[in-house]
Amino acid sequence: MNSLRQFTRRKALQSLAVPPSQGFSTIRLWQRHFNSTPAVASRLAGIDPSKLTVTKTSSPKELTPAKDLVFGKTFTDHMLAIEWSASNGWDAPRIVPYQNLSLDPSACVFHYAFECFEGMKAYKDNNGQIRLFRPDKNMERLNKSSSRIALPTVDGEALTQLVGELVKLDSRFIPSARGYSLYLRPTMIGTQSTLGVGPPGSALLFVIASPVGPYYPTGFKAISLEATDYAVRAWPGGVGDKKLGANYAPCIVPQLSAASRGFQQNLWLFGEEEYVTEVGTMNLFIALKNKETGQKELVTAPLDGTILEGVTRDSVLGLARERLAPNGWTVSERKIRMSEVAEAADEGRLIEVFGSGTAAIVSPVRNISYKGKMVDCGLKEDEEAGEIASQMKNWIEGIQYGDEDHKWSYVL
Ligand SMILES: *Cc1c(COP(=O)(O)O)cnc(C)c1O
Repeated sequence: MNSLRQFTRRKALQSLAVPPSQGFSTIRLWQRHFNSTPAVASRLAGIDPSKLTVTKTSSPKELTPAKDLVFGKTFTDHMLAIEWSASNGWDAPRIVPYQNLSLDPSACVFHYAFECFEGMKAYKDNNGQIRLFRPDKNMERLNKSSSRIALPTVDGEALTQLVGELVKLDSRFIPSARGYSLYLRPTMIGTQSTLGVGPPGSALLFVIASPVGPYYPTGFKAISLEATDYAVRAWPGGVGDKKLGANYAPCIVPQLSAASRGFQQNLWLFGEEEYVTEVGTMNLFIALKNKETGQKELVTAPLDGTILEGVTRDSVLGLARERLAPNGWTVSERKIRMSEVAEAADEGRLIEVFGSGTAAIVSPVRNISYKGKMVDCGLKEDEEAGEIASQMKNWIEGIQYGDEDHKWSYVL
C-alpha cells in the first residue's frame, strides 16, 4: 500500500487545491505511469488558456524604487501555476498571489534534480504597451529541456498567452525607463513524492516575475575572464545545452575560484583542442581578422552540445548576417581554439570579444587569462565596449522596446 500511496497526487500550492479527480484509480495511474511515453502523454489534456482562473492578491506590494532594483531579489504580486499529472495532463492554469510552495520532502525535484527553467523579459515601450522578445524561442527551448528530463512539454503559444496575462496583471511593476524590464522565470519541477528513480508522475509549471534595472546602469563595463581548463561545464552528448538547474550549481565553485583571482567569469574551454565554448551564463562572440585574407569575421561556437542555445546568440547571428555581412563581415558558427584567439591578439588581429545573454544583451570582454598570460581583447584603455557590441545592443534594444517594428517583438 505504501508503495502505491506514493503516486497519490499532492498539491504543491495549497491554495490551488482542487477536488480529487473522479473515478481515480491508483492502480491505473500506476500502470499508466510506468507505461507512459511522451506520445501517450501528448494525448492528455494540453494547457488551456480559456480555463485560466485569477485570484488577485489582497495585499499588493509596495514598488521598489527603480534605482534600487537588484536582479532577482523582488517579485511581483502574482505568479502563474499549472499542475500536471501523468493521468490527467495539464490542469486548469491559475494566476494566484505570489506564495510559497508546499512540497513533500520526498518530492523528486529535491533528490534527482527534476527541474528546468527559462529566462525571458517583458518590456514597456514608449506607448506604454508591453512586449515580449521572441517568446517562441524560449518555449521551444523549455520543451527541449523538460523533455530531456522526463517532464512534460507545453503548447508554447498557450503558455506565452498565459505569461502575457500575468505580465499584464502585474504591469505596474515594470518601470517605463529604457533599460528596465520585467524578468520572467518559467520553471518546471517534478513534484512526485518518491525516492524511486523514475519519470515524475506529477509536475508543476510556474512563472514568477522580477522587475529589473539596466545591467550596466552607468554604461558598459568590460569584464575579465579566466579561461578554465581544469573543469568542464558541458560536453557533446551531455545536457549542458539544456537549461536544467542541475547544470548551474557545479559552476559556482570554479566561479568563486576565478573571482578570487580577480576574474568576473569563467570562459569554459572544451577538450584537448581547448575550444572556446561559452562564458558563465552567456554565449561568446569573437570578432577577428583572418590571418591570410584580412577579412573580418564574427565567430561563435556551434551548437554541438557544449553550449546553451541562447536566444540572444541567435539574434546576434541573425542581425550580423543581415546587417554586418553586407559590409564585408563573415559570420561563422564554428569551433575556435583558445590558442587561435590568443594568436589573433598577439598579431593585432583580435577586434573585440563580447558575451551575449538576456540579462545584459551584450557584455564586452577586456581580457582573458590563459595559461598564465593575459590575452588582450582589443579595447582601448578608456573604452568599455567595441563597435560591434555597441551596435548589437542598440539594434536588439531597439527591437525589444519597439523603436523598430520587427517580427521578433511580441506585443501583448
Ligand atoms: C540562458 C543561458 C545563456 C543565454 O541565453 P539567452 O537565451 O540569450 O538568455 C547562455 N549560456 C547559458 C549557460 C545559459 O544558461
